[in-house]
Amino acid sequence: MQELTHYINGEHVKGTSGRFADVYNPATGEIQATVPLANAAEMDKAVSFAVTAQQSWAAVNPQRRARVLMKFVDLLNRDMDKLAEALSREHGKTIPDAKGDVIRGLEVVEYCIGAPQLLKGEYTDSAGPGIDMYSMRQALGVTAGITPFNFPAMIPMWMFAPAIACGNAFILKPSERDPSVPLMLAKLFEEAGLPKGVLQVVNGDKEAVDAILYHDVIQSIGFVGSTPIAEYIYATGCANGKRVQCFGGAKNHMIIMPDADMDQAADALLGAGYGAAGERCMAISVAVPVGEDTADRLLEKLIPRVEALKVGPYTSGNDVDYGPVVTAAAKANIERLVQTGLDQGAKLVVDGRNFNLQGYEDGFFVGAHLFDNVTKDMDIYKYEIFGPVLSTVRAQSYEEALGLAMDHEYGNGTAIFTRDGDTARDFANRVNVGMIGINVPIPVPLAYHTFGGWKKSVFGDLNQHGPDAFKFYTRTKTVTARWPSGLKEGSEFSIPIME
Ligand code: NAD
Repeated sequence: MQELTHYINGEHVKGTSGRFADVYNPATGEIQATVPLANAAEMDKAVSFAVTAQQSWAAVNPQRRARVLMKFVDLLNRDMDKLAEALSREHGKTIPDAKGDVIRGLEVVEYCIGAPQLLKGEYTDSAGPGIDMYSMRQALGVTAGITPFNFPAMIPMWMFAPAIACGNAFILKPSERDPSVPLMLAKLFEEAGLPKGVLQVVNGDKEAVDAILYHDVIQSIGFVGSTPIAEYIYATGCANGKRVQCFGGAKNHMIIMPDADMDQAADALLGAGYGAAGERCMAISVAVPVGEDTADRLLEKLIPRVEALKVGPYTSGNDVDYGPVVTAAAKANIERLVQTGLDQGAKLVVDGRNFNLQGYEDGFFVGAHLFDNVTKDMDIYKYEIFGPVLSTVRAQSYEEALGLAMDHEYGNGTAIFTRDGDTARDFANRVNVGMIGINVPIPVPLAYHTFGGWKKSVFGDLNQHGPDAFKFYTRTKTVTARWPSGLKEGSEFSIPIME
């Protein structure tokens, strides 16, 4: 069995804490590797290397830093197949989906190649007599990120690409469930020319996270994962004086208006609800048809499509729509929530229970489930299931549908399917959710816009990637300069006012 490592100061380093976690192949249910779980001393070691590396990295001019990112993009493309295979083997998602995971991260690296432009400061000539004023953005120092299992390539890159482009060092604590790709990314970035110690991977669980939260030297923390952990990290990180941004869970609604094309809506729900086995923070988990007739027409199209979904291991190539969920515990949690749906009166119109795949009986596969007649008080509506389970909540009017999305505690993404521009515009303007799709079921913004939800899906002020990332990973410094020829005789005792 493979023993994975940390990646510290350019070396694969074995864990010394004596604690390890098992890493599974979700398709077979086998343990394929162990990953070390770092303690505070191991984290501290990485931080001291990061301090030294960051000072020289910040002194490299932004254009040269950008060139390293350019080369990194080339290497990501060169190794795309290898990365996708390693990702699917630990996560379970299909190979095309795993490539998408790498590509959506790579696109943020491409955006960060614009660092020389994005880091340009502001300048006011002659702000006063003989006085010039300028602002610059400077790196924070040592930064850290804690990432979830569901996008082991994309989300780490969303964090470390802008952090490093800005001149910071970055310590990544990836999910202990699929740590191989983050380790590969760190090595590849160094092959591209990144100096040792600028990007390090320290594997672990709560102990490693706490070592980050309480470390005096670490300046900022990015977190993506479930909401309870996001709340903990935000509160503890802020209390320890760090800059923190946390992105949490989701329950994304898709509203289907009576004038929508039902074939398009059903196709969209299929990909958005069941792709990646529903393990996406932008997955649609609630379909809200408006009107009984719309609901009936939608379900007539949707049910046969859901029944025909092909579930299997990534090794089956393009013949598979989605793979297993990540762990046996995730599978058990989905099954438990499905049972609560039945107990609380929802109607299971596609029953994915007892799904069995010949030859993969020990894999963590979950059949596709579709519920009808779901109501607001049910657990399957209130909680994030993070599995291939779509709930239909029938709304009698557009206002009721809008109210559902607005009243839910999560506000990551939402979508509306309609041909009516006025309704779509009204929805986009009024709904209190961060990312809106109009006839687009998974509206994940591209790298040069920003990504982030509202309500309990986010803690902190700035979004991920896009211009916000360059604000999050830098501090502004403003200089007011006057040369001796502009100086007046004597002292000023009142607050200076520009003349
Ligand atoms: P998770 O919260 O279990 O884990 C995320 C990270 O936190 C991991 O690195 C993990 O090691 C660490 N962690 C876990 N328990 C901890 C604890 N008690 N103390 C400190 N750290 C801890 O999330 P997950 O299961 O890996 O990912 C799925 C979740 O992430 C879902 O809720 C999903 O919606 C969310 N997610 C959100 C976004 C977004 O941008 N909003 C994107 C992707 C995933």
